[in-house]
Amino acid sequence: MSKTKYVYFFGGENTDGNGSMKPLLGGKGANLAEMAKIGLPVPAGFTITTEVCTYFYANGQQYPLELKAQVDAAMAGIEKAMGKKLGDTEGLPLLVSCRSGARDSMPGMMDTVLNIGLNDKTVEVLAKKSGDERFAWDCYRRFVQMYGRVVLDMKPKCKTDHCPFEDLLEAKKKKAGVDVDSDLQAEYLKELVVEFKAAVKSQTGLDFPEDPMEQVWGGIGAVFSSWMNDRAIVYRRMNGIPHDWGTAVNVQAMVFGNMGETCATGVAFTRDGATGAKGIVGDYLFNAQGEDVVAGIRMPKKIEVSMAQEMPDVWEEFSKVAMILEKHYKDIQDVEFTIENKKLWMLQTRNAKRTGFAHVRSAVDMVNEGLITPERAIARIPANDLTQLLQPVFSGEGLKGRTPLAKGINAGPGAATGQIYFQPEEAEAVWQKDNNAKIILVRHETTPEDLRGMKVSAGILTSSGGAASHAALVGRQMGKAVVCGCDAVKIDYKAETVTAAGKVLKKGDWISIDGFTGCVYDGQVPTSPSEVLQVLFSKTLKAEDAPVYQCFHQLMSWSDRYRKLAVRANADTPGEAEQAVALGAQGIGLTRTEHMFFDHIEDFRAMILADNVEDRQKALEPLLKYQQDDFEGLFRAMNGRPVTIRLLDPPLHEFVPHEAKEQEALANKLGISKEKVAQRVKDLAEFNPMLGHRGCRLGIVYPEITRMQATAICQAAVKVMKEGIDCHPEIMVPLPGNASEFKHQETVIREAAQKVFEKAGITSDYMVGTMIELPRACVTADKIAEHAEFFSFGTNDLTQTGLGISRDDYGTYINEYQELDIFAADPFQTLDQEGVGELMKIAVEKGKKTRPNIKLGICGEHGGDPASVKFCHKLGLNYVSCSPLRLPVARLAAAQAAIEEA
Ligand code: ADP
Ligand code: MG
Ligand code: MG
Repeated sequence: MSKTKYVYFFGGENTDGNGSMKPLLGGKGANLAEMAKIGLPVPAGFTITTEVCTYFYANGQQYPLELKAQVDAAMAGIEKAMGKKLGDTEGLPLLVSCRSGARDSMPGMMDTVLNIGLNDKTVEVLAKKSGDERFAWDCYRRFVQMYGRVVLDMKPKCKTDHCPFEDLLEAKKKKAGVDVDSDLQAEYLKELVVEFKAAVKSQTGLDFPEDPMEQVWGGIGAVFSSWMNDRAIVYRRMNGIPHDWGTAVNVQAMVFGNMGETCATGVAFTRDGATGAKGIVGDYLFNAQGEDVVAGIRMPKKIEVSMAQEMPDVWEEFSKVAMILEKHYKDIQDVEFTIENKKLWMLQTRNAKRTGFAHVRSAVDMVNEGLITPERAIARIPANDLTQLLQPVFSGEGLKGRTPLAKGINAGPGAATGQIYFQPEEAEAVWQKDNNAKIILVRHETTPEDLRGMKVSAGILTSSGGAASHAALVGRQMGKAVVCGCDAVKIDYKAETVTAAGKVLKKGDWISIDGFTGCVYDGQVPTSPSEVLQVLFSKTLKAEDAPVYQCFHQLMSWSDRYRKLAVRANADTPGEAEQAVALGAQGIGLTRTEHMFFDHIEDFRAMILADNVEDRQKALEPLLKYQQDDFEGLFRAMNGRPVTIRLLDPPLHEFVPHEAKEQEALANKLGISKEKVAQRVKDLAEFNPMLGHRGCRLGIVYPEITRMQATAICQAAVKVMKEGIDCHPEIMVPLPGNASEFKHQETVIREAAQKVFEKAGITSDYMVGTMIELPRACVTADKIAEHAEFFSFGTNDLTQTGLGISRDDYGTYINEYQELDIFAADPFQTLDQEGVGELMKIAVEKGKKTRPNIKLGICGEHGGDPASVKFCHKLGLNYVSCSPLRLPVARLAAAQAAIEEA
């Protein structure tokens, strides 16, 4: 016979397992063992391992042969530890619970049966020996009900199904003239047990089992079976828990919170899971069993409010135990307990789930309390959760009683409420009239032309486009709440309506979008601004009055101490740049110059419509001045930090008007025929704009554009340097695939720069480098690096060109791809390390071979994604660049990468 150990005992000194054995014992079992080991009051019990669950499913729901003997032995162990016997008809009988518990907690997904061991005989003994008839019969009716539901499968199968037990209970309460279960007297409970058993017989054809050991095995089987119930399967898929982990089963001596008014049961957090504030919070109920607290039948009391007065001794012990647990696990604990005749019993503990706020606050506090090291604090906070601290939020209060109209991709974190507008121009007009107007821009998708409308909106809702669509990228960079790709909303521009969940909203109606969750709500959900931004940016709050900010600041300074990667921001305006510096930016990694053109679109259009070089040059003159002003603003805001400026990138058709009326207006303004405008617009149209006449291809065909931009950058640098501010412009050529393309642009840039410096009599130390966004650029990086002084990975385009997927329309199939596990993640949100990452690796290696100290960065949206940041750390990049509001995420993730490596 093999000697596999399938059963682990827990209870005082004889405890077999410990807290590190979660894969084998499940989280609940491992932590029960750990609590017993460190001397906390845990009712004795045993854990059947997850290996038995695996065996059970691999062998037609049979158990390993050795199991029975091991269970019998462990049951004898419980009897000994508790001084009671299962099925005892002389002394107080032992009752047990049969509880599920997987490696990771799956709250409420699997089943538990309480009060096992009761039958028509033991209930009488329990009544006599406890001196409380009502209590005994209350346990018995609960047991029959739970056993019927869980083991005998009498759960209602759908929402409209009635639960026979609930119906009988209701009828009984009516007959007795009471409102709550706990007021039902013993005689009624006795009747209920008989009626419950009759219901079992009529629905299942089975007699209710009287033999306690048969009941135990029924419970064990039901718990193993619940691993494969529908909600558990769905939950595992959602949370990435493998189906083959299996659950453990915990059989544990019952303790009673329902034995009168000196008994109670409750759940508690050792610190607040929403805010992280110190101090125990939780709920408890007198004269109740565990499931009553969560079931919401009776309104529980708040531990922090009244437990110290109502049960001073228990409170003292409980707070001591809570402290011991926190010290032991070095983390917030979420516990279950029961008080039987004033004696405290601990029934469960686990690391508490919590918000980003609670993560930061509790981790920082615990470092200051000497409980954990800064490294541990940094390592355990999910970096993405930091965005919660920066965004205006819908408060829990505001969301009460609301159901979302629809759900899209949660592309730009933040909560926004506003009036619906469909046309960016109209949104802008509304805002110009009233700068306090709250607007939600609702569009099929957005384009660079919509920028001004986006700027004045609180949030952006689109029906198509994914997490890296224009709306998501630009909206997020501007700090807007963005929900995109929400195809459940039907937008009708003509009728000016948006329809979702059967509800029709008109232009001007209020709508609320939650960029954290992707949910869209009807009407106004109230929001509040983030404390961190009030301190750092708007300066409407002082640091000493801002506890959330203080913790945030502390965490950030620790992170900065550990990280090796520098962080930069993608910013196009001085305002964005200032915000970026406030949030820790050490430079700008990407300025998209075309965004500046939209503020002077008329002049830019004149340039596009020019027939020849001379006219084009003339049209470029006013633009040079505007651009120079913009760059000066950026240099001043960045105060000596490096600024990477990308030359014009998008295809020209994005800048010209497509409607006949607008074309006519433009023709009149320029004094040319509207046919000519229309013809030019037609000429510029491309079948495949992503791969079209864009990037350095524009600057090569129209070198005067590159010349103008380089001149503007250098003149701005010179001017600002004369003001006494240091400048480090990094001029970035977009999209070359050949070294020859880069070389061409470099020559134009350096000539222009030389001219400016000669005239000014001073020189700025500038660099010329390139954005790596084509696979060909990666594999020929050694040649490109002969000329380029820096590489910045444009991973948005590198993902598009590397995967052959356009981010403009991948929204139609990406969900399907993720559901089928074809793609583990959205490649525009988190870097495809195996493919795109490999291309980057090639580029890094080849680039360094030619130019060992080449400056390397990333400026795609991935620069703010934790997993991608860690990857960039491993690649040995110098910096990551991301939207200003993602800077804290990048700083923390970079520190985590450094700590993980150490
Ligand atoms: P879940 O994982 O759904 O919380 P549990 O196994 O933790 O399920 O049990 C459900 C409820 O029953 C909890 O409130 C728990 O504290 C209570 N409970 C479980 N076992 C016992 C026991 N041996 N004595 C008293 N209460 C128990
Ligand atoms: Mg529990
Ligand atoms: Mg690009």
